[in-house]
Amino acid sequence: MKVDLIIQARWIIPVEPESVTYENHALVVNDGKIVDLLPSIIASQKYQATTLEKLDEHVVMPGLINSHTHASMSLMRGIADDLPLMDWLQNHIWPLEQKWVGEAYVRDGSDLAIAEMIRGGTTCFNDMYFFPEITAQQAIHHSIRASIGLILIDFASAWAENSDAYIEKGLALHEQIRHQALITTPFSPHAPYTVSDEPLKKIRVLADELELPIHMHVHEILHEIQEQQKKTGQTPLQRLHDLGLLSPSFIAVHMTQLSDEEINLVAETGTHIVHCPESNLKLASGFCSVAKCLEAGINVAIGTDGAASNNDLDMFGEMRTAALLAKGVANDASAVPAKTALEMATINGAKALGIADKTGSLTIGKAADVIAIKMDQLEAQPLYEPISQIVYATNRQQVTDVWVAGKQLLKDRNLTTINVDDLKAKVAEWQLRLKS
Ligand SMILES: [Zn+2]
Repeated sequence: MKVDLIIQARWIIPVEPESVTYENHALVVNDGKIVDLLPSIIASQKYQATTLEKLDEHVVMPGLINSHTHASMSLMRGIADDLPLMDWLQNHIWPLEQKWVGEAYVRDGSDLAIAEMIRGGTTCFNDMYFFPEITAQQAIHHSIRASIGLILIDFASAWAENSDAYIEKGLALHEQIRHQALITTPFSPHAPYTVSDEPLKKIRVLADELELPIHMHVHEILHEIQEQQKKTGQTPLQRLHDLGLLSPSFIAVHMTQLSDEEINLVAETGTHIVHCPESNLKLASGFCSVAKCLEAGINVAIGTDGAASNNDLDMFGEMRTAALLAKGVANDASAVPAKTALEMATINGAKALGIADKTGSLTIGKAADVIAIKMDQLEAQPLYEPISQIVYATNRQQVTDVWVAGKQLLKDRNLTTINVDDLKAKVAEWQLRLKS
């Protein structure tokens, strides 16, 4: 039988079924989808491929899913560090955004983030930012999978003047790109402290009608929770629950300092959590009790947050930090073992974004969102357990090849859809502008 692509690999980690590693197997891809996963010897008898990739020193696994980021903030990487969240936002990030954020900024910033993510083995990202139509356009142009948030915030920006305008423009964008195979469009209200009840009620109704997820920062820092409690006696999470938002289509990002009752509420409502350990650590935002959340049955995914608060979009680093931090927070070395961290960075992200039927594991019928990681370096020796090695001892620069829906976006570490020299020149111009 003729097929488009066979990837033969030393190891294949499909993520589903869990904890499995196949040795000397082949992934068979046709029309952008995975059609078979079988021993390499049998694959070469059963299939003739247009392209055969022999990756004898590699781990092949599903592409990583960055479940929360602000792609174009990559242009602000390192511009304001070592500050608490509110000082960082109010005195540094928001004034810069007021001055500079527009179509050109979002286009070049999205390109920088997409290039960095592909080179780091990320095949899908969940974005929240102004000018989402530009990030969507760049994601489509570079053939990466993306959830493009329909942003909503109470204050005016260069993109929209009030909450009605945000909703209207978001709906128009959804209508325009809803047939794009690689793109979904969750509603993305910024945070409880920046979006009031009326617009939240409106998007709850719209999200039900259009069957779209809702993606929001929730309980990022203690101050946010205390302020809301002072005003209304409720925590932000309770308020969102009263507004009817918590559900299996709600994606709550950060979720630090949760009480046991709140963890139960999140579990009961089927709400997803996106954990951003490095952003939480850098802004000293507090801790998400990941081990307790997982134990309660909550689906927990991983995101990098924006490069202005991380300062990279490295899902390998994020996966490792998530595994390590969870042990420290739980005071339990068995909390978030390697296989769980890997699931959080792949299939759990797909579940949170409502696209687990398309991506997140190497399962027959899903899109071929696949990465290859070279393991022959001295630093990767010895290699007893590939999943442990990937989580605890692998660097994103070991990623050699990346495919999204069967299309190769990284070939032997070279980007196939982005010109790196042009991009670096544009980024250098932005650095001069933002510094001025
Ligand atoms: Zn964020």
